[in-house]
Amino acid sequence: MYYKQFGKTNLKVSAIGMGTMRYNDDDINAGNLGKCAEVALYAHEKGVNYFDTAPFYCQDKSETITGMALSQLKRDSFYISSKVNLGTLDNKTTADDFNRRLEKSLKRLKVDYLDFYYLWCMLDLESFKKQNDLLYKHFEQAKKDGLIRNIAVSSHMQGSDLEKVVDTGLYSGMLIGYNALNYRFRQAGIKAAYNNGMGIVVMNPLGGGLIPENPDTFSYLTEGSDLTVAQSALRFVASHKEITVTLAGFTSKDHVDDAVKAVKVLKERSADEIYDEYENKGIALNNLCTGCGYCMHCPVDIDIPKYMDAYNMNILGHDMAGRLNNHWHIPASKASECIKCGNCEELCTQHLPIIERLEEISQI
Ligand code: SF4
Ligand code: SF4
Repeated sequence: MYYKQFGKTNLKVSAIGMGTMRYNDDDINAGNLGKCAEVALYAHEKGVNYFDTAPFYCQDKSETITGMALSQLKRDSFYISSKVNLGTLDNKTTADDFNRRLEKSLKRLKVDYLDFYYLWCMLDLESFKKQNDLLYKHFEQAKKDGLIRNIAVSSHMQGSDLEKVVDTGLYSGMLIGYNALNYRFRQAGIKAAYNNGMGIVVMNPLGGGLIPENPDTFSYLTEGSDLTVAQSALRFVASHKEITVTLAGFTSKDHVDDAVKAVKVLKERSADEIYDEYENKGIALNNLCTGCGYCMHCPVDIDIPKYMDAYNMNILGHDMAGRLNNHWHIPASKASECIKCGNCEELCTQHLPIIERLEEISQI
């Protein structure tokens, strides 16, 4: 395993971290949490020492499963993170509410402290400022009390807004979505964070599965290696010198092996160098939906990610109508029910023109 230093901390973290939102659903439904925990233990055996978890992942079982695994290991052999925001606190903001949530995570994870505690899922600057004002003092107190070691922030904002988060100087790490689809939009943010000594953790390195599902389109990522498209997409992210940990979701031990192989030979390069190399390769991919699902609160119940997934097919030269009818089983005509309230576009992590696309879809 390749290890990197996490920002200004002295922590040496694995270039691949385990995102613990992909434990096997069937095992969870069957109450077989121990079997899921074996995957986390296997990842640790293969050198993964960074585990990213949160409340609600995997039917709210992720922290518990991860705790089952990590409690079998020496505490100084891994780093564990969890997350909190106003949503997880039911919009309650007292120190007691914050501490109750934190203690719940600690208890489930069977640890006395978290290495990283994230202000979770900041979609825009306004929401960040509000939640930072209300909750940061509780993070600081928890750090003084020894319950957390590092305060970090997770965000879906674009480059220039990310820079403003970095400029607060309050966070030692940042978790962002970054991949071969959206990297052009995230450059300013990652450079600012790196230059300010922050560790950068990346989620969604496979673009919501879109990259491995379209191997021909993304085959350029594999050039010069014997890696698969998925492995190459992980390597693409992990090879940025600015990026500390690339999170991969593991359902099985095979997934662990795949990810570990992706960084076996890792040559770190600057984001600028990588940008220059890939700028003219592949198609213009920043306009694809990554399926993150953050737009899922449509007042007229349009299942936006499915429609945007079909639109992806259109961009990638596949049959959009076929995707809607045969894969998703939803009518194109439903797209015409959009009342153009704009909620989804505000929430969209890829900043896509959803309304315009729905209009186009409704006419096929
Ligand atoms: S703009 Fe249209 S699709 Fe988006 S949330 Fe509003 S009604 Fe739904
Ligand atoms: S439309 Fe935007 S917010 Fe919705 S799933 Fe796609 S990328 Fe995510």
